[in-house]
Amino acid sequence: MINRRDLIKHLSTFPLLGGILGQSSLDPLSFTAKLPVRNLAKELGIRTFINAAGTYTFMTGSLMQDEVVETIQGAAKEFMILDEVQTKVGEKIAALTHAEAAVVTAGCFSALTLGLAGVLTGMDPKKVEALPHLEGTGMKSEVIIQKGHNIGYSHALTNTGCTIISVETLEDLEKAINEKTALMWFLNIQADQGQIKHEKWIEVAKSKGIATMIDMAADVPPVENLWKFNDMGFDLVCVSGGKAMRGPQSAGILMGKKNLIEAARLSMPPRGSTIGRGMKVNKEEILGMYVALDNFVKMDHKKEWKMWEDRIALISNAAKSVKGVNVETFVPELGNHTPTLKVSWDLTKLNLPVKTLQDNLRNGNPSIEIMPADGSSLTITSWMLKSGEEKIVAARLKEELSKAAV
Ligand SMILES: *Cc1c(COP(=O)(O)O)cnc(C)c1O
Repeated sequence: MINRRDLIKHLSTFPLLGGILGQSSLDPLSFTAKLPVRNLAKELGIRTFINAAGTYTFMTGSLMQDEVVETIQGAAKEFMILDEVQTKVGEKIAALTHAEAAVVTAGCFSALTLGLAGVLTGMDPKKVEALPHLEGTGMKSEVIIQKGHNIGYSHALTNTGCTIISVETLEDLEKAINEKTALMWFLNIQADQGQIKHEKWIEVAKSKGIATMIDMAADVPPVENLWKFNDMGFDLVCVSGGKAMRGPQSAGILMGKKNLIEAARLSMPPRGSTIGRGMKVNKEEILGMYVALDNFVKMDHKKEWKMWEDRIALISNAAKSVKGVNVETFVPELGNHTPTLKVSWDLTKLNLPVKTLQDNLRNGNPSIEIMPADGSSLTITSWMLKSGEEKIVAARLKEELSKAAV
């Protein structure tokens, strides 16, 4: 007797048998057409929450713009040639960002890996296949980074097989450059943690013929940063798509010199025998990323900023109405450049370790996420709030702080 698995396997040979499985047709769209939309968070018991913390990967980043979701839904219903999507979208993104060329990657992290891969391999398919094994290939093998910039993300660079060379002073840098140097990498969010600033970094690299890359993953806003570093002369610029721009969380952009972007694409899908094959972005994310960027560039950033400030003011006022609570609003200069509220309290006046407050807000209804700063302080941002949620955050925060008064 034919079992169910065999039956499914042979359905294409006997299309009429489809009726036996209870489907009226084999049109894949009909599988879902008649089912009500499922609420998977509810169905699987996954907690959803108000995000008053910020754009954190572990909190699934940001919520995509409506236009991005619509783009993804539309794109999902058509086949396209992957390379054609990248080429056409890349031209549009490059024009918006003053770059020679661009490609959508699987987040900023993969942009770092793929950009460096392009620097290492050029257009040589043998080298592309060899990565991450550099020995005996004639490829360069060292990336220079300032010590203060060498935080976790440099793993994206060592994934190519390269070694990190740490430098502190300009003298160190000049000594470190040799025939093995592939790239000089700069991390914008740590720019104040290194002695050498952007312009000098580029100047030294150019004088020695070394490629430069900047990681500016979390450095929009301001929107101008999307072209500032291309204009400044970095050969490659990498940014996250799923942070402030509210594109797909699994997308980012690699932009820069045309020859390097072309070379980087050799390590990307659909090409298979590459280090980038597992960093796939499909048409939905590529087109979604383009729409997110396009909208972000065109939007009224002053209005957006005012809204963020108003929300922060509301939450701030609620918190400071509780005795013993201090508030301060600031804007980080580098990374997550958005109005940020710091709430702190005197533990002798408020018996409330920050962990307890975090748990209470998290376990409340609705659930709220904030970011603890130290034992008796936390930070709140308003850019990931949906309209109206600031009122809930303000009320819940005040309630929890008030309850703890000694
Ligand atoms: C978020 C971040 C990344 C990683 O970006 P993804 O888009 O999540 O891949 C890399 N570098 C810095 C500085 C970041 O903040």
